[in-house]
Amino acid sequence: TELIKSALSQASRQQTPLTMGTRKVQVAVIGAGAAGLCAARHILAQPDVFAAPMVFESSDRVGGTWVYSEKTGTSDGGLPIHSSMYRHLKTNLPKEIMAYPDHPFPPNLPSFLHHTQVLAYLEGYADHFKVKEHIQFRTLVEHVIPAPRPEGETDGVMAWEVTVRSLGARGGRVTHQFDAIMVCSGHFFDPFIPALPGVENFQGLILHSHAYRCPEPFTDKTVVVLGAGPSGVDIALEICTVAKQVILSHRNTLLKCPLPTNLQQAPAVQDFSPNCVCFQDGSLQQADAFIFCTGYNYRFPFLMQQTGLQAGGVSLPPLYKHLIHPDLPNLFFIGLCTTVCPFILFDCQVRYCLAVLAGSCRLPSQEVMAAEVDHEYQHYLAAGKPPKYFLKLDSLQEGYFRLLAEEGGFHPIPPVILKVYRALKTFRTADLLHYRSINLRLLSDEEWERV
Ligand code: FAD
Repeated sequence: TELIKSALSQASRQQTPLTMGTRKVQVAVIGAGAAGLCAARHILAQPDVFAAPMVFESSDRVGGTWVYSEKTGTSDGGLPIHSSMYRHLKTNLPKEIMAYPDHPFPPNLPSFLHHTQVLAYLEGYADHFKVKEHIQFRTLVEHVIPAPRPEGETDGVMAWEVTVRSLGARGGRVTHQFDAIMVCSGHFFDPFIPALPGVENFQGLILHSHAYRCPEPFTDKTVVVLGAGPSGVDIALEICTVAKQVILSHRNTLLKCPLPTNLQQAPAVQDFSPNCVCFQDGSLQQADAFIFCTGYNYRFPFLMQQTGLQAGGVSLPPLYKHLIHPDLPNLFFIGLCTTVCPFILFDCQVRYCLAVLAGSCRLPSQEVMAAEVDHEYQHYLAAGKPPKYFLKLDSLQEGYFRLLAEEGGFHPIPPVILKVYRALKTFRTADLLHYRSINLRLLSDEEWERV
């Protein structure tokens, strides 16, 4: 604790830039999903500044969320299943705005892809940029703690110690030291399950979307799906193809587009009996199954408590540029924002963070960062918005990407990407059942106009 306190207080006195003297900067990347691959790819692109990264990945392959697992619960190795993919999942963004800016999807693929095609794309990205040889697979990061800088180095902020456990046959723990960390461990793996009064009375099947794989078990059943976010809507529509009836319970504005005849919408849930769900409008529905599509907690079990980020929850304490804890300016959280083009987000965030580490982008002092974060957050709350949506960017992503590019000194995302993002949102809202059949490359001018 003393060591951590002294490292933190040393950090709080530091000013930018975060240079490491003449030595190459050693970065650890936690996770080899889409964010971690992107981090490693850009670190490798600057061999004069950065040593080759060490990427730690607890599973045995790249892709993270996109590695579909038929299994639910725990893996054969005893770790919780990470992926929340379901068997028939197709992307909710077209490949044209989903790809990393420097690596398009193959031209022969349609706009909306099956999850296996996204995984193949990520494998291709990792191969193309020669990332895989820097990944330590089956290696779980257990602890990340601040450490004194290597002997003889006085400048810069504290270093980091990363303790990893090999999940292979030999096992064993190793501790490595780094100048900076990129946390790329994802945030769609720890189900958030709200406390619902009376749910323990319900005798039907209860599951979270994390454990949903396919609609077949719901054939001829009546199913209540709670939550109308992207997964809730998708899963409800998928189950409608086999179920007797699906009730989508949510607090959002009602979906107004054409929907299957066996899909109904209902307000929030009030109570349960052994085989019924009671809604807040007083209506009662017999149900065979109840699916929580209520999202995920952020969770970083390997971080020390002092960061205030370890335990996570549905929201996090606000970070500078959604990336940096002001007291820990060389610990970067990649990909926390939601309702975005994720791969583009990763690319912009990684390049910004590397510009900070390389010294070409100067962070303000830690006091100024803290004040700025606080000001932005208070302003957000004062507008009556809930803390849990602070990381939801949506229409703000355009300005956010532009800001990172300006300060990070790289090319901004072409405006057409964000135009398509906006158009697609309107199109999806208007036609949830068919928007994925659109192929952007094949649209006529007239159809583009309509979209
Ligand atoms: P992840 O993919 O979760 O990868 C994190 C990696 O870190 C994993 O491989 C994990 O094993 C590893 N890891 C975690 N902790 C440790 C540790 N302690 N030690 C070592 N390794 C660790 N995005 C889109 O762009 N389009 C879509 O259509 C789309 N659909 C989605 C559908 C679903 C159901 C879900 C859940 C997400 C979807 N997304 C979609 C968002 C998707 O999560 C992102 O696109 C992206 O893949 C997230 O990448 P990531 O690297 O941040 O996290």
